[in-house]
Amino acid sequence: MLNQSVLALGQKRSTIRELFEFGNQRAAVVGRENVFDFSIGNPNVPAPDAVKEAIFDILNAEDPAVTHGYTSAQGADFVRQAIADDLNRRFGTAYGPNNLYMTVGAAAALSICFKALTCAPTDEFLVLAPYFPEYLVFIRDGAGATPVVVPPRIADFQIDFDALAARINERTRAVVVNSPNNPSGTVYSEETIRQLAALLTEKSEAYGHPIYIISDEPYRELVYGDETVPFIPQVYPNTLVCYSYSKSLSLPGERIGYVLVPGEIVDFAETYAAVCGAGRVLGYVNAPSLFQRVAARCTGMTADLSVYARNRDLLYKSLIEMGYSCVKPTGAFYIFPQTLEADDRAFSERAKQYDLLVVPGSDFGAPGHMRISYCVKTETIERALPIFERLAKDYGVK
Ligand code: PLP
Repeated sequence: MLNQSVLALGQKRSTIRELFEFGNQRAAVVGRENVFDFSIGNPNVPAPDAVKEAIFDILNAEDPAVTHGYTSAQGADFVRQAIADDLNRRFGTAYGPNNLYMTVGAAAALSICFKALTCAPTDEFLVLAPYFPEYLVFIRDGAGATPVVVPPRIADFQIDFDALAARINERTRAVVVNSPNNPSGTVYSEETIRQLAALLTEKSEAYGHPIYIISDEPYRELVYGDETVPFIPQVYPNTLVCYSYSKSLSLPGERIGYVLVPGEIVDFAETYAAVCGAGRVLGYVNAPSLFQRVAARCTGMTADLSVYARNRDLLYKSLIEMGYSCVKPTGAFYIFPQTLEADDRAFSERAKQYDLLVVPGSDFGAPGHMRISYCVKTETIERALPIFERLAKDYGVK
């Protein structure tokens, strides 16, 4: 007898993974350069040189038994201090090591937060569409709670506050916020965050318990032009921040991130302890030791993001010229145009016939859209543009 929900998850890959595997199979047949794989968010720019230097320095200078040994469950003290110092410098906060819990990337940080806040299966976590699909898995199958989807505001992908307010009730534990957003590339404005904070403050008072924000921030530093990302704990103290170095430092395979528990959160000591307890229950033991040390040295740095800015500009301009409708992304490395037929899965299948791999918006709770992940070489985009154009012609656009 097996756990049927995890069995089902193991038997069925996500659409993104399916497309990624399809791309690999096609590459073996037609050549890698003839497959236009925009399916997965695997950064293609190298990690900054400082990461490589840090790895060599650490391996050369430190006692291997220490470098590769277990650390405290919450992460090495000096690592958390270094990250707190960097946050304090950038955001004018006053965090210390005890505000931070090092994790195996943002996925673990999120799983830990959902687990820490779940008291009963009826507890609800509000997920704003379009959303990162794994939230549903982490909430439902990981924490045993109930995800509730808030429909998207298609015009600009900011928050539909009427739809959100209508879904908040006494069972609501938290709202998951992801800005810069995967898949839309939208950055929530200061105004949006302030409005969200006011709504949650009012609802927390009405229901007599805090409604938290879980702020999922793996793309915090990936913004273009003069866009800025509001630092949510400064606006709404009952926020748990889930951060990852996967995208900012191009280290997705190394699995390193953290949960930030701000000192101002209600019942700080208990909340931090619940985060530690959740990490223990989920069997994380400690985040990877070598990459904790790398994070301590490189926190606040980024890989060279200029290629993403170039890709965004090229894709946005070209797709609009071809007649696609699209909100201009200001962050992350995704663009989320409308598909040229209402059935986004049919559109994705049609694109596949040209070896163009885009993910249907339905997977992110926003049907009628496609996610194009542009963390690829600019040349791949240049060579894919005629295919986007051909699709537009197939559909009689313009
Ligand atoms: N949250 C979002 C919005 C993501 O896009 C991703 C990865 O793509 C994650 C979380 C998981 O990130 P990590 O690799 O740090 O676990």
